[in-house]
Amino acid sequence: MSLKYCQGTQCHTYKTKDRLKGMQGSKTYQTRRRSDFYYGNDNFCSLNCQNDWFNKFGDQAINHFGRTTQAKHLTEENAWVKDYDYNYRDQNNPKSNYRFVNMITKEQRPLTESQYDDSTYTLNESE
Ligand SMILES: [Zn+2]
Repeated sequence: MSLKYCQGTQCHTYKTKDRLKGMQGSKTYQTRRRSDFYYGNDNFCSLNCQNDWFNKFGDQAINHFGRTTQAKHLTEENAWVKDYDYNYRDQNNPKSNYRFVNMITKEQRPLTESQYDDSTYTLNESE
């Protein structure tokens, strides 16, 4: 189990007991360090820390990866979404519980569980 630091730019400024660390007499509030974080794709200890990061770096990040400058259009070619029936219980039914659904045409196509879990697997031809 490896520990990592919260990426929040102000994490150390939030005075909570768990952030106060160090030798007796020289304790300081420190950036949280854990094996898992629940926010921002496992990078931030709280929504506050995620927002602090975005307020400082969000514009730079958007400019770096490409700012949206015109409307995207939902068409048949990019309307595929993965769907899953959470109440599925019938073990005897061999039909896959995972599927692609086209939000425009309503067409459904079967999907394996591993394809469902693969975030890069898509039928969409563009974003
Ligand atoms: Zn934090």
